[in-house]
Amino acid sequence: MISNFICPTEIFLGAGSLKQIKAIIQQEQFRRAMIVTDKGVLNAGLIQPIMDELAEVNCEASVFDGVEPNPTDIVVNQAFVALTNERPDLLIAVGGGSSMDTAKAIGILATNGGDIIDFRGVGKVKEPILPVIAIPTTAGTGSEVTTVTVITDTKMKLKYSVGGRNVAARWALVDPELTLTVPPHVTAATGVDALTHAIEAFTSKMSYSVTDSLAKESIRMIAENLRTAVYQGNNLEARSKMLEGSLIAGLAFNNAKLGLCHALCNPLGAHFNVPHGVANAILLPHSTRFNLPARTAKYAEVAKLMGESTEGLSLSEAAEKAVTAIERLIKDVNVPAKLSLVGVTEDFLPRMVEECADNPLVSINPRTATKDDLLQIYKNAF
Ligand code: NAD
Repeated sequence: MISNFICPTEIFLGAGSLKQIKAIIQQEQFRRAMIVTDKGVLNAGLIQPIMDELAEVNCEASVFDGVEPNPTDIVVNQAFVALTNERPDLLIAVGGGSSMDTAKAIGILATNGGDIIDFRGVGKVKEPILPVIAIPTTAGTGSEVTTVTVITDTKMKLKYSVGGRNVAARWALVDPELTLTVPPHVTAATGVDALTHAIEAFTSKMSYSVTDSLAKESIRMIAENLRTAVYQGNNLEARSKMLEGSLIAGLAFNNAKLGLCHALCNPLGAHFNVPHGVANAILLPHSTRFNLPARTAKYAEVAKLMGESTEGLSLSEAAEKAVTAIERLIKDVNVPAKLSLVGVTEDFLPRMVEECADNPLVSINPRTATKDDLLQIYKNAF
């Protein structure tokens, strides 16, 4: 069997890596940058230092700060109007997955035309997107290194992905100092998102040695550091490990793909605007329990990586401990852990099943899941 590994992005990792921005701009002779961000990131004071860096290399800069969590086609269209007015030769995404995905989406429209929904699926983006520097400010999505953008269509109430080699940032400046201001509840939810990426990549049908080594290291780093990052937000070491963990989880899942948990999450974002990490936290224990029989040995390893003692246990008992470890971590960092706590009503569950049943992530999940199984998982999470 032949496996391939894609990462078209040049990565600068570590405290202070933001400073690389001037060298990139000078090397590529960019003249006009548009920063794509949201008001939370702006108010956290993260944009002005970047503007100052740009001024030092005579790069003009404008700011679009209208990104919202779970970015929609409406947000993308507003950002694209700004792009059309400003005519930048460079996009700088500063924020979590929502800002990075919005920047990628308008980068697609700038060079490919059309509407973002036209590119739904994989491989439909024919031209490389406008150059993007991705600067993550949450430790969660890994979007800085993935070849995907995730957008919600407001008319169809559908959260979908646009993917392919061309849908990548050209550079990622992965600087943990920018994550010190993330509030505890966002740190918790985004951290669980990164953990979900790592676990789903590790247990995926498409995983192999390269993605496994990344995923395992990511699971270990996140399990060891998420609690500290949540409760001691200014602990740079924990923040660094979390950002590194989410980056390498991104590299792993971009190649090994994800599974059931992410498929089940999409309707929650599309209909109830549940933050992506919260959706993962609600569904990960239940999708993991469902998948245990299909990947028993790997889940036993997940348990160990998350610090559980599995000595003297049978393989299936050890695998069960993965669920225990996940539930304990989610409880410790205080993420809402039930569908009923985030506005979902029980009569809506069958509709969510219909919407996620066609998601390709269901078909590549390690264990075959029928619609009845999906409904049961939602009910368990209710
Ligand atoms: P987000 O980008 O929506 O940000 C969440 C909140 O955190 C916002 O209110 C923001 O203002 C605030 N925030 C971010 N950084 C901050 C900082 N440093 N200081 C203070 N506040 C800060 O959240 P997210 O979880 O990073 O991104 C979620 C989106 O990413 C979802 O739409 C999800 O589907 C998508 N996603 C994309 C990929 C991908 O590969 N493209 C992967 C997973 C998820």
